[in-house]
Amino acid sequence: MQIGNFGLESEYTKELQKIKQWAKSLRNLREKKETTWTEPVDWEVKGANINGESVVSLTITLTPSGCAWASTGGCTMCGEYEGSTKGEMVSDAFHISQFAVALATYVEKYNPKWLRIYQEGNYINNDEVTLNAQVVILKLASMIKGIKRITIECMAKYITEEKAALLRSAVAKDVELEIGMGFEAADDIVRNICVNKGETINDYIRALKILRANNVRSLAYVLLKPPFLTEAEAIEEAIKTTNYANEIGFDAVSLQPVTIHKYSLVHALYTIREYELPWLWSIIEVVNNINENVEDFRIGGLGFYPRPVSAAYNRHIYKGDCNRKIWEAIKEYGKYRNKDIFKNLDCRCRYDWEKYCREEEDTLKNRINYKLDRLTIENYKQFLADNLNEVRSDINYISIAGDTQV
Ligand code: SF4
Ligand SMILES: [Zn+2]
Repeated sequence: MQIGNFGLESEYTKELQKIKQWAKSLRNLREKKETTWTEPVDWEVKGANINGESVVSLTITLTPSGCAWASTGGCTMCGEYEGSTKGEMVSDAFHISQFAVALATYVEKYNPKWLRIYQEGNYINNDEVTLNAQVVILKLASMIKGIKRITIECMAKYITEEKAALLRSAVAKDVELEIGMGFEAADDIVRNICVNKGETINDYIRALKILRANNVRSLAYVLLKPPFLTEAEAIEEAIKTTNYANEIGFDAVSLQPVTIHKYSLVHALYTIREYELPWLWSIIEVVNNINENVEDFRIGGLGFYPRPVSAAYNRHIYKGDCNRKIWEAIKEYGKYRNKDIFKNLDCRCRYDWEKYCREEEDTLKNRINYKLDRLTIENYKQFLADNLNEVRSDINYISIAGDTQV
């Protein structure tokens, strides 16, 4: 779908090639990560909402064997490959043990009604999680007392009739099974050039049809501010994408304001100031402008493994400090889904954001080339060497605002 004024996808062949090469060589800088079967690699408890009811959700992250798409370069903002075994298959016993330990440790303590099972890739790809583990873990999950919904993730291309039927039958009848897909952007150029998603609109439409026929809920992740877009373009794209995802039949949409992950193209651009994170006002602008009939609209984008080094924030050039207040409002929205929570928020920085949104830039094609041409692998390596553990100072309170583990 062509919704911007960016020309034709076929005009970006050279740029896409460069983006893929960069994404791949940056990921290759990272060695594979060692993890243990005695605990999940990450977990998170937060307030959430299922069909109008405020509930506790538990996210359990299993060792990623590495998203197959990321191993070819993959999405430009994604850092999930960083925490993976880089393609070395994780055994079913390993994944099932990690999951069982997480259940034993956190379920009784937090009484979750919603379980999100992540492995930072494609849960239903047999080359990332064994088929046996996919089924056993879902069966165990649906036996948790009071559980209402289980969410897993994959790219649209992995969804087949057989797999959807098999996984649905592994989950108890009265428990919802939901599959999240990175839809990212409705515009083909933004999705497949700026994000390098590698999926067509028809891939999603085909997957949605299968999921609907098998009583599996669908969730679209919509990216706020892919690289190379201006703030205003990013806001417009996220609004249009949310409405379009709803129109083609996604049951839910989760807005993902970009976060910064090491070894990703976005991080490399960020280190040379050729990528700027979205403002928090932009998140609110999207929330306030999507169609009323988008029933299940969430704000996500922080629960990643490895954790991001930075996330959306408002800049305070003159004075003001609204970031904590807005992240807390986002947390409240997650629990109660009431947009009114954003109504009374204000700060001096809002004027600066409005001004920033009016800034104009060169054509998208020129921007991509200019920014990529300024990157060098040596400089990025040097940046990593000097700032390996660099994390923005307020990232911790952002996590706390999401009721993250303590
Ligand atoms: S965003 Fe998803 S599909 Fe893209 S590289 Fe990351 S894990 Fe793979
Ligand atoms: Zn402010």
